[in-house]
Amino acid sequence: MAKILVIDDDEQIRYLFKRKLESKGHLVLLEDDGEPGLASFKENKPDLILLDIIMPRKEGLEVLREIIELDPKAKVIAISAGGRGRASDYLDYAWRFGAKKVLEKPVDLDSLATIVDEVLNN
Ligand SMILES: [Mg+2]
Repeated sequence: MAKILVIDDDEQIRYLFKRKLESKGHLVLLEDDGEPGLASFKENKPDLILLDIIMPRKEGLEVLREIIELDPKAKVIAISAGGRGRASDYLDYAWRFGAKKVLEKPVDLDSLATIVDEVLNN
């Protein structure tokens, strides 16, 4: 069992990720934007963070940089909306900023569970 923090402004995604990951026995914490997400990271020290890139108030790349600054070994999976021209650019930055994995929405939930386990076990 791992403690996983999901930071995403999309309520439906938070719900789906939580349900899927809890079914795999993980403890799942949810936050809806970068600032509360960062606060939860500091407070709860999750084993893994699922981080949305595009959020209304504090965007994911900024959160990623701060998380990696606080803990260079933090396991962050960055997730960005597909279908937008700039999505792949964001994900490219996420790699460079230290994300362990980058995914494009829509994220297949079974693949997500597998990828989470891979990143946790690395
Ligand atoms: Mg978003």
